Order: sequence, then structure tokens, then C-alpha cells
Amino acid sequence: MELDKRNLYRMPWSLNESPLGWVEVTDKCNIYCKGCYRRNREGHKPLDKLKDDVLFLKKWRNCDSIALAGGEPTLHPEILDLVKFIRDNGMKTMIITNGFGLTEARLVELRNAGVTGLSFNINSTQERPEFKGADAVNLPLLNEVRLKYAKMVAKAGGLTAAFKITVNKENFEEIPGFVQWAINNAGLINSITLVALRGLPVGGRFEYYADGKKIDVKPGSLGYAVSAEKQDKITITSNDIYKKIKSHFPEYDANSYLGGTTDHTSFKWLIGNIILNSRLKRFGSYGKKTMEIIQTVYHFVYGRYVLHLKKRKFGKKVFLLALFDKNLRRALRKFLSYVIINPVRLFYRINILNIAVLQPPEILPDGSCDMCEGCPDMCVYDGKLVPSCRLDEFIQYNTLLKAYPLFKE
Ligand code: SF4
Repeated sequence: MELDKRNLYRMPWSLNESPLGWVEVTDKCNIYCKGCYRRNREGHKPLDKLKDDVLFLKKWRNCDSIALAGGEPTLHPEILDLVKFIRDNGMKTMIITNGFGLTEARLVELRNAGVTGLSFNINSTQERPEFKGADAVNLPLLNEVRLKYAKMVAKAGGLTAAFKITVNKENFEEIPGFVQWAINNAGLINSITLVALRGLPVGGRFEYYADGKKIDVKPGSLGYAVSAEKQDKITITSNDIYKKIKSHFPEYDANSYLGGTTDHTSFKWLIGNIILNSRLKRFGSYGKKTMEIIQTVYHFVYGRYVLHLKKRKFGKKVFLLALFDKNLRRALRKFLSYVIINPVRLFYRINILNIAVLQPPEILPDGSCDMCEGCPDMCVYDGKLVPSCRLDEFIQYNTLLKAYPLFKE
């Protein structure tokens, strides 16, 4: 069950060729999340500045879609104008949202303006009105709230829905329950993302410097600074998550990855899927050749790489690629032996549940930082491209902090 990079397609994304661009439209929010690192500092950004960022990303990253993030991006009063601007510039818009306050009518408005999908972050660190009165914010409650939004998106029509969780040691055992929920609702949702918790370890192991000046980083001074007591919670890797999913759902597999900038063994982005039908019968997954074909053909036709397809493009058509992809041949054999027993089964809808596993940057024992190759989530700060996960360092110190170990491990 070990991942082997030779069996996976290495995504061809780079600094100047990325399927994604990241724009933070506001730092205002309508709920409170523990440890949030955007804290009502500047409020809503002016529309003109946001448009400039979109054009910058289009020019320098050749983006296929723009992720609008925050804060809660749907609170921005000119969000519809921004989405239309992105569409007029030939790109898709994904909204990264906590979902709270969204209605079906609002989703229709967003879709009509040009939004193609929403990525929901619903987790137990949030103080959400939906959790009020509950004895515990546990997986069943979280999944119930997630399902409410998945159904709302499906009713609005023409939008994709994705759901994200952050994984640490405390909720690691909940992974199968989350994936099972996504499988059960694969007719409503397109993808799930599992992000391994990461942060800057502070309180003993490293000293941090900005442009040669020592910085006293305290837990809380950067939203992602992790205190000494919590550092054992940030050791889960994407490989651990992969194995956990695979052990419960053998039909799942990864097809592509982004490596690290320093550690040749790391899987920073690991993209995979499960092919199943509307009766929840799982057949397998497509492999590296299919992803290679998707990236290459899309780039040939549209001139850029892709992460989010507009709608459910494939369905049964995915099996046509079995000619080139041995994983798909296995899935097709399973599908054929299933339909041969009862040909009516041929008409059940085929869904593909995409599963992304992310392992954000980490400080290695020698003080170097292992970032994601090509960083698809870069945003614009002060005329530069910077990784959005470390934007706070640019806001506070105008540079990335450098870590120096205090002792050898
Ligand atoms: S480096 Fe940070 S912002 Fe860039 S892709 Fe990785 S986690 Fe996302």
C-alpha cells in the first residue's frame, strides 16, 4: 500500500503554469473558527484591487480558475461583479466558503454571474449557529450540516460542490466516516479534500529570522504558529491519510501528485478518485494515464492546465480511456461483470468522487521548509506571487521567515 512516485503522474504545474489562482477578497467573516489566521484586519478589499490581482494571476500563472477565499468571500458586497469579471476574462470561479448564510437563491445568483463551484469548509473548530444546542460537534453532526449545503448546491443546479477537512491526530480515525459520507452522496458532490494539519513549530526547536532580524514568533502571533505542546499533532502525512482511506476503500487510488520543494519523498498534493454508480457500487479508480491525458488534452485545447472541470464531464465515458490506463481496465472489468448479471445496471449513473490529500509546508529538522512544488494556491501580495498558506508572514514581515534549528535532533 506504499505510494510510489513512479506509479503516479507528476502534475506539470509550475510557477507560471498553474490551474489555480488564489484571491482573498475580504478578511471579514460571519462565524468564528478557532485558530483562524485572517482576523478582520483590513475588511473588504476594493473591487479595483481585486480585478488587478485577477489580471496579474491570469498573466503570470495562466490560471484556469480563480479561487475566491477570505474571510468569508460571499460577504463581499461586490462579489458578483468580481465573478463576472473573472468569467469575462475566460476563467472559472471557485468559492471557498463556510457556507453559512448561503441560500439557494444566492447560489443561483452566484452561478448566473459565473461561479462554477463551491468548496465548503465545515469543521468542529467553527462556532456555527447550526451547532448550537448539540451535545457534541461530532462527525454525524458535521456530515449532517455538510449534506444540507450539498443538497442546496444540487438544487441550485449547474454548480460543483467540494468539501474539505483538516486532519490531525484527534480526528484521524474519522477519515473513513468522512469518506463514506462522501461516497454515499457522490451524486451530489464532486470532490473532497483532506488536509494534514501543518504549522510553524514555535517554543524551543527553532529560531525564526526575517531578513536577518530575529523574530519572536509566539503561538497566536501567526495563525499557523504551533505551540510546543501541540507539535505532535502536526506529524500526520499525506501518505498516512492515503493508507487510511485505502485500507477502508480498496477501490480508491491516487493517480497524480505534486512533490515537495526540498524533501524528495513528500507528497504535497495527492490526487485520486473512486468510480462508483448511483447504487454506491464501487468499481475502482482511474490512474496516472487518464490524468496525463486530461492535463495534456486540456492544455492542448485551452492552453492551460486544469483542476476543476465545469460539470460532471465523464460519467461512463471515462471507461473509453481504459485503452490507455490499466487502473481503468481493472475498473471496467469489474463494471462489466456487474452489468452482465443484470443489464438494467448499465443505466445506473456513474459518478467519480475526486479525493485530494494535501500536506502543506513544514519546517524540516535542518530548518529548511518543504513547500508544495509549483504552489497552485499562490496569491498576489505587493506585486509578488506568494503562497497563500504563509501570507501572514508577508503581511507582518514582508518576507518568509527563515528557521534555524536550536539543537540537532
Ligand atoms: S505551498 Fe501552501 S499555499 Fe501553496 S499549495 Fe502548498 S499549502 Fe497551498
